[in-house]
Amino acid sequence: MMTEQNTAIKLLVLPGDGIGPEIMREVRHVISWLESRRGLSFDITEDVVGGASLAEYGEPIRDEVIEKAWAADAVLFGSVGDPKWAHVGFEKRPEVAILKLRQELGLFANLRPAKVFDALVDASTLKPDVVRGLDIMIVRETVGGIYFGNPRGIETLPDGSKRGVNTEVYTTSEIERVARVAFDLARKRSNRVCSVEKCNVMESGLLWKEVVTDVHAKEFPDVELSHMLADNCAMQMVRNPRQFDVIVTGNLFGDLLSDLASMLTGSLGMLPSATLGAVRENGKFPALYEPIHGSAPDIAGQGIANPIAQILSFAMLLRYSLNKQEEANMIEQAVSNVLESGLRTADIMSEGMARVGTSVMGEAIVRELDKLQK
Ligand code: NAD
Repeated sequence: MMTEQNTAIKLLVLPGDGIGPEIMREVRHVISWLESRRGLSFDITEDVVGGASLAEYGEPIRDEVIEKAWAADAVLFGSVGDPKWAHVGFEKRPEVAILKLRQELGLFANLRPAKVFDALVDASTLKPDVVRGLDIMIVRETVGGIYFGNPRGIETLPDGSKRGVNTEVYTTSEIERVARVAFDLARKRSNRVCSVEKCNVMESGLLWKEVVTDVHAKEFPDVELSHMLADNCAMQMVRNPRQFDVIVTGNLFGDLLSDLASMLTGSLGMLPSATLGAVRENGKFPALYEPIHGSAPDIAGQGIANPIAQILSFAMLLRYSLNKQEEANMIEQAVSNVLESGLRTADIMSEGMARVGTSVMGEAIVRELDKLQK
């Protein structure tokens, strides 16, 4: 039908290596369910990246795939990395695929939710009372800061010793655009943003604080804004993590704090992420959604990987790129219900629960969606 073709959602699906294809298969079942039961229409292109692309084309990602990513409404990525390619030079490693996609699409804001499902409250190394109900969103700037600033390098001094240099650099516009993403997100959540830097010892942190304060006053006065030093934030996240809603921070602190936050939930196989680029003239923005875990080569091909992080990444795609809040909520609720029912993949297994493989977990989530739809 013409109308369906016109409104079909264009997705680029890149399963990648290791467990990527296994867990992506379960997302495809969720997509089929949305098409048959919710009337959504997807126009899906699938391609190879990482080790799979090296094997077929001799490079970790082709320009053609980057072009397809630009043409899509969103990219759903699995994971890349395969020990088979450990011997190749850095520029040919499978992992280059994801780095290049982020760089070429200008993906500057990484969104990492750290949410604790009630059924998994015991999986955290922190006390259940501290993490129960935890739902944090960390927004990390990913293309600026100390990882990319100049001057950088290792130089040899006249006395023969060496000096390593990296430079933390942020411009007003880089801070403004990531702050807007954070404030926008907060409006869809509990309306609170905590901006994190080290303005006590870093000029870049001072500018960060000034610019975030300015964007807040001019564009988002309805959102509650607080500021925190990065070292205190790390401490508060372990002491009382539920005080946070959205945290916005630069590349380096975001790298550390998002790993810290994800471990509050205790399970790598459960955590999705999104990376967003700048809004274009047509109102759309490039976006890539992927689990935070890697390709898990140690368990690849065994049918035991947890598909939930990949499925929740797809739920984020529905929420942020397509504004399909209802469907995203349904998927998150279905995951929660399945966990409540006692099903567990090996990585989140605990005493008295029923251990299942990748496909049984995926099927259970689709069955739960069916129940929620009725
Ligand atoms: P990893 O996340 O792949 O695995 C760490 C541990 O967690 C392993 O024991 C693995 O079995 C387990 N695990 C991860 N995801 C799981 C899931 N869904 N279900 C059950 N268990 C799961 O990290 P690693 O072992 O350090 O890296 C493996 C490869 O992945 C490397 O080549 C690395 O470069 C790559 N990697 C890629 C990405 C990405 O594609 N964005 C991210 C991280 C690592």
